[in-house]
Amino acid sequence: MRKTFAAAAAALATLILAPLPLAAQGVKGGQGQAPALTADGACSAEQRTTIRRAFGDARQMTNASIASLTLEPEAIRPHLARFFGSNPAGAIAKNFRAISQGLDEREGRIAYECNRASACRGATFAYVRWGGNAREVMGFCPTFFSAGRTGQDSQGGIVIHEMSHLALGARDHAYQPRGAEALAKDDPAAAQMNADSYEYFAEFLPR
Ligand SMILES: [Zn+2]
Repeated sequence: MRKTFAAAAAALATLILAPLPLAAQGVKGGQGQAPALTADGACSAEQRTTIRRAFGDARQMTNASIASLTLEPEAIRPHLARFFGSNPAGAIAKNFRAISQGLDEREGRIAYECNRASACRGATFAYVRWGGNAREVMGFCPTFFSAGRTGQDSQGGIVIHEMSHLALGARDHAYQPRGAEALAKDDPAAAQMNADSYEYFAEFLPR
């Protein structure tokens, strides 16, 4: 359920442990400049804007993936084989449609958390869990907010990963591009239900 990046752990620790510049300490001593992690995980207006933009990016990436799989299945075949092995284009397109529907239907009713200290350990990018009253919770951590908008582990791609858990019931069988590629070869059925496989298919989609 957690989207993590082991190599980012060191970077995150550095980020947190680095002493604040004097100017920043001054800001912190006044008001403003929230700490990186909070106990309640409440999202600021700025964080909500970033999440909304990431959902928009995820929509575009998902739509581009569906278009490639349905309109140019021959051209996309090597890319499909890289992340989904022998799975047919139609099956993966169908699952991307479910993710797309999840983005549309769930964005407004999910409960969001930002930088919640008890959940953002070990360089976790983001996570989903089920809160009270069966409400779906999607949480985002500092590494998500500092991620880029394109390429590997982008903000939009991370949202695709988390939405694949909610909309498809995808699991985390294997992480990272290498793990996803190995899973595609060794166990295509598991690849079809692996969150990172959808994320990387969309992030590395040939244009
Ligand atoms: Zn996950």
